[in-house]
Amino acid sequence: MKTVGLIGGMSWESTATYYRLINQGIRNRCGGLHSAKMLLYSVDFAEIEELQSSGRWHEAGQLLAEAAVRLEKGGADLMLICTNTMHKVADQVVAAVTLPLIHIAEATGEKIVRDGIKAVGLLGTRFTMEEKFYRSVLEDRFGLRVVVPPAEDRRLVDEVIFDELCRGVIADESRKEYLRIVESLAAQGCGAVILGCTEIALLIGARDTDLKLYDTTEIHAQQAVTMMLEQ
Ligand code: GLU
Repeated sequence: MKTVGLIGGMSWESTATYYRLINQGIRNRCGGLHSAKMLLYSVDFAEIEELQSSGRWHEAGQLLAEAAVRLEKGGADLMLICTNTMHKVADQVVAAVTLPLIHIAEATGEKIVRDGIKAVGLLGTRFTMEEKFYRSVLEDRFGLRVVVPPAEDRRLVDEVIFDELCRGVIADESRKEYLRIVESLAAQGCGAVILGCTEIALLIGARDTDLKLYDTTEIHAQQAVTMMLEQ
C-alpha cells in the first residue's frame, strides 16, 4: 500500500471526513484490520481564508507548497489537497515536490463523463463557482456544460460554507435553501449537481433529493484509495 499525504484543515470539518472515507475504503478493499497509511498536514484555516479573501493567492499557494514538501519528506507517495477552492494554486503546489497530486476536479470530471452526464450544476465557494481554474477543467478537459446559480444564490452558497459548514454549524434553513438551488439547477437541464466544496455533503446528500449529486470529497477519497493500492 502506498502512503497518502493529505494537505488538510480547509476546513478540518471535511478533513475529518477524508480521514474516515480513506480508512473505510482501505478496509473495504483489503479487509480485516487493514487501515490507510496516511500523513496529514493540517493548516490553520483562518490564515488561508484571510489570504483568499484578500486575493493573496500566491502566499496561500506558498503555504500549501511548504505543506507538500513536509509530506514528501515524511514519506508520502501521493498527495491530496483536501479542498476544491485551493486547487486554484494546485500548479504551485505540484511544482514544489515530485509527489503526484490527485486533482479533485479531474477525478470528479472523469466520473461524471463515465456516467454519461453532459450538463452539471456546480455548487462551491464563490471562487470555485465564478473563476476559471475549476470550471475550465470540467468544461475544456471533459466537455461538460457547467451551470452555476445566479449571483444572489452564489452569495448564499458561499456564505453558508464559510459562516456555517466550516465552523461545524449544520442548519435546516440552509439545507432548505441549498435544496431549492439544486432544484433550480435541475430545472435548467442539469442531469446532476457537483457538490464542489468538501463540506457540502455535511449539509445535503442523496437522501434529500432525487437528482444525482457528485460529492467531491467522496470521489477524491475513493480515487486516493484506488491509487494507494495500485502496483
Ligand atoms: N472546503 C471548501 C472547498 O472545497 C472551502 C474551503 C476553502 O476555501 O478552501 O472549496
